[in-house]
Amino acid sequence: MAEPLRPRLLLVDDAPINLQMLEAGLEDAFECRCATGGAEALALMGSWLPDLVLLDVAMPGLDGLAVCRRLKADPALQDIPVIFVTGRDDEADELEGLEAGAVDYITKPFSLPIVKARVGTHLELKRCRDLLRNHAFVDGLTGIANRRRFDEALAQAWALGVRQRSPVGLVLLDVDHFKAYNDAYGHPAGDGCLSAVARALAGAMPRVSDLVARYGGEEFVVLLPGTDFEGARAVAETLRRAVEAMGLPHAHSSAADHVTVSLGAASCLPHLKLVSAALVEAADEALYRAKQAGRNRVGG
Ligand code: GH3
Ligand code: MG
Ligand code: MG
Repeated sequence: MAEPLRPRLLLVDDAPINLQMLEAGLEDAFECRCATGGAEALALMGSWLPDLVLLDVAMPGLDGLAVCRRLKADPALQDIPVIFVTGRDDEADELEGLEAGAVDYITKPFSLPIVKARVGTHLELKRCRDLLRNHAFVDGLTGIANRRRFDEALAQAWALGVRQRSPVGLVLLDVDHFKAYNDAYGHPAGDGCLSAVARALAGAMPRVSDLVARYGGEEFVVLLPGTDFEGARAVAETLRRAVEAMGLPHAHSSAADHVTVSLGAASCLPHLKLVSAALVEAADEALYRAKQAGRNRVGG
């Protein structure tokens, strides 16, 4: 059986003897890497992301406080817990360390079992925080991204589009005659149908930068950064076919004898005077036209 992945610890101290002691005491439970200075630690984190950092304060060059402040200012690194392990033991120093963003402060000479226990506590807290955050962004029924996650991703894609002058594409889609589906097959079957649609959509997405989310009810949305109108229309058609290909029976639809979706595609070049809601609105209008034109199609 493969060995379970051990949490990664980055140990930073300018005194090699301290690093050796920490590593010797922690390496049975954690995957440890060492750095003898602040700059080296930051450079290492560019390629090897630790789960927690044990950080000395007094170091030549970039000291521990500066390293901690930089980590906390970097969106990619700010969630990594930092514990100071330091010889500075007065109250003002400890307060300065905690205010720099550290989760804990251990003074030298340290007790290895206590360092280990505190590391364990903070890794567990971090795991719970990550879990909560993930739950907050996942739709409970389908397991794909939820509306909140979509709203955040749209804001990010919009800001990037403004900076890079690149378009943002969007596809909004809605299950056809879904009320009739619920009425005929029951609400639990309706839930199963929505999960199946979500799986089909997620499985049909060609790019990792694209995001499929449940927009609400029986509506889904697909965010396509860097995609123009023709591209968005093409993705919409791929998605329409993916849902149709499931062949889920729907005896009460005017569009087909199986479950289908109607889709609205839109794309625009973001700029500062335009709000992203205008893009969603354009896709919604296109979706409305697809419904009007007979459903099971892409409206442009
Ligand atoms: P159209 O083709 O015009 O979209 O018709 P429709 O029946 O799909 O649209 P309508 O908005 O009238 O009905 C949507 C239905 O979707 C009604 C609602 O009960 C159902 N629905 C919304 N969310 C859920 C859900 O989570 N589970 C189930 N089973 N049904 C849901
Ligand atoms: Mg609807
Ligand atoms: Mg519908």
